[in-house]
Amino acid sequence: MTSASPETLPTAAGTSRTSEFLRLDDDYSAHNYHPLPVVIAEAEGAWMTDVDGRRYLDFLAGYSALNFGHRHPDLVAAATEQLGRVTLTSRAFHHDQFGPFCRELAELTGTEQVLLMNSGAEAVESAIKIARKWAYQVKGVPADRAEIIVAGSNFHGRTTTIVSFSTDSTARADFGPFTPGFTVTAYGDAAAVEDAITDRTAAVLVEPLQGEAGVVVPPAGYLRRLRELCDDRNVLLIADEIQSGLARTGELLACDHDGVRADLYTLGKALGGGLLPVSAVVGSRAVLGVLRPGEHGSTFGGNPLACAVGRAVVRLLATGEHQRRSRELGAHLHARLGELVGHGVAEVRGRGLWAGVEISPGGPSGRRISERLAENGVLCKETQDTTLRIAPPLTITREELDQGIDAITTALRR
Ligand SMILES: *Cc1c(COP(=O)(O)O)cnc(C)c1O
Repeated sequence: MTSASPETLPTAAGTSRTSEFLRLDDDYSAHNYHPLPVVIAEAEGAWMTDVDGRRYLDFLAGYSALNFGHRHPDLVAAATEQLGRVTLTSRAFHHDQFGPFCRELAELTGTEQVLLMNSGAEAVESAIKIARKWAYQVKGVPADRAEIIVAGSNFHGRTTTIVSFSTDSTARADFGPFTPGFTVTAYGDAAAVEDAITDRTAAVLVEPLQGEAGVVVPPAGYLRRLRELCDDRNVLLIADEIQSGLARTGELLACDHDGVRADLYTLGKALGGGLLPVSAVVGSRAVLGVLRPGEHGSTFGGNPLACAVGRAVVRLLATGEHQRRSRELGAHLHARLGELVGHGVAEVRGRGLWAGVEISPGGPSGRRISERLAENGVLCKETQDTTLRIAPPLTITREELDQGIDAITTALRR
């Protein structure tokens, strides 16, 4: 079942090359996404060019996978150099990018050990396995009885175990039976977590700032209270920073805004610099140390190419430049978007160069606004039906940012 045939697509489809590719996608790709009708052929920095030569400002940045923009020269150089040396060994052997990347990532994040995987969902799955094993071996929870407390409206990925504790019916419907062992509490409600903790609780797993839910910042004190509860009750705090981390919110980690340290962090998206999938679980030796040989792994996790790019990502983040850009440009973004409240916009949420623009009730859908923006050369995407998610590359200039905000202002007014 397709939601829009190429003939009825509202933009771009008039031209031959675009419609040709849209038709191919429609015929041969599983319809698990509903992309805007734009076919990208090239990209650099904050700009993308489609197959018909139209240029677009990237206001989505691959859901924060492109925090450093498209094809950042340092990252491309690191990948190119590594392509000329060795790209894959499997974990059957050591290689010379692995230990250095693990050490550099641990130092950057103020942690002790690193487990390298590929996708974000794999990092979350890994954190769940580690937390359960920790509960049995260290905390002394009876076998197979460990519980993990999560938040409503969460997004942690798409595997069967992860959708087991999603509250999004579209993500779950017809994919059961589901994995037991998860308790859902309302996001932002620390008292509900307090009530949900039992002697069998292994971990509390939360996004410090919910991305897919609409760029939702939790109430002040929420993360701090979770940290206290976890300390009091001998429970691990797992922060899923796959989208919120690595400079997106103006700090290295979103938890840093609250001065909160998690026991485990899941990282992904920007960790691969927009070049390839790289994810990780980082934390203390005491927790990650529960894993023994053979208990967990991945053929591609921690491969030389991924590590070489990851090391270049760590070098970019270590300067603090992208965090600073996110803070400064983010303040500008939020000031300008704030002026739209009451003019087609009900609310603007977010932190740093990351915003959820809630369209006023009765206004056009987020999809419709995204389509209008695409027609005007700005690419972003709705999350939920009524929220526009804005997350440009952190390398964007102030002029480019203003150009995009101008287009958003126009699209909302029309
Ligand atoms: C994107 C995302 C994931 C899943 O990452 P994939 O690489 O798509 O598997 C998990 N958690 C959060 C918070 C995310 O934003």
